[in-house]
Amino acid sequence: MGEWARPAVRLHPVPGSPGVTDSHIGGPLLWPADEPWPWCDGSKHDEGLTILPADSFGVPVALVSAVQLYRRDFPELPFPDGTDLLQVLLCPLEHSDEESDHFGPCVQLFWRSSAITDVLSGAPEPAVFEPQYRTRPCVLHPCRIVEYPMGDEQPVGAGDWPPVANGSKLGGWAFWWQTSPFGLECPSCGADRRLLLALYTHEEPEKELCSCEVAERAVVGWEFGREGALNVFACTQDVQHPIKLHID
Ligand SMILES: [Zn+2]
Ligand SMILES: [Zn+2]
Ligand SMILES: [Zn+2]
Repeated sequence: MGEWARPAVRLHPVPGSPGVTDSHIGGPLLWPADEPWPWCDGSKHDEGLTILPADSFGVPVALVSAVQLYRRDFPELPFPDGTDLLQVLLCPLEHSDEESDHFGPCVQLFWRSSAITDVLSGAPEPAVFEPQYRTRPCVLHPCRIVEYPMGDEQPVGAGDWPPVANGSKLGGWAFWWQTSPFGLECPSCGADRRLLLALYTHEEPEKELCSCEVAERAVVGWEFGREGALNVFACTQDVQHPIKLHID
């Protein structure tokens, strides 16, 4: 069983008022004032729960802050040389990408150095968005656990292994609920892509894994799929290779 163990960090978000120099979910990003804010070009927008295709297809939208993580708080993240800050942004609309079989918000990762002198004072607001992809700002109370695979990723005869964390986390194993794992080979180099980050609709206590208190299930306010998780897989050779997204 030991060879299947992977470290994971449960993020345990709690509503708060994080600043640009904090790790957080949904708070303001430490963004260089002289770097253009990222936008989605809208070419893969699809009908959402509240937004019609006419309002979204081909419409460029400013991305929104989803997660910001500093190396001092999360040294286990695979920061490329010269970087100490990971920023995760979402396009807050539905996308339909048949090629990668992903249906949900698109995601962009930025690995950067936090040595920024001139910080952007306010991010642009998206003109249209799905309400379920807007978050309330949360601070993080991380804890470290070990996870083992579930379902189809377990070796034959694995027996009764502990569950994977049902809540937002870094690393560990994904919970493939609707399908078997697919598309994890990196298109750039052929290496394996592994779970980097999972963002969950609901935060569950999961007493088998840690004894942290979880005050509120829908703490962040976002919803992925039907009360599912947005899993982000990154290349094990180079995290700047294309990521894979999977909502389950
Ligand atoms: Zn978009
Ligand atoms: Zn790769
Ligand atoms: Zn915990």
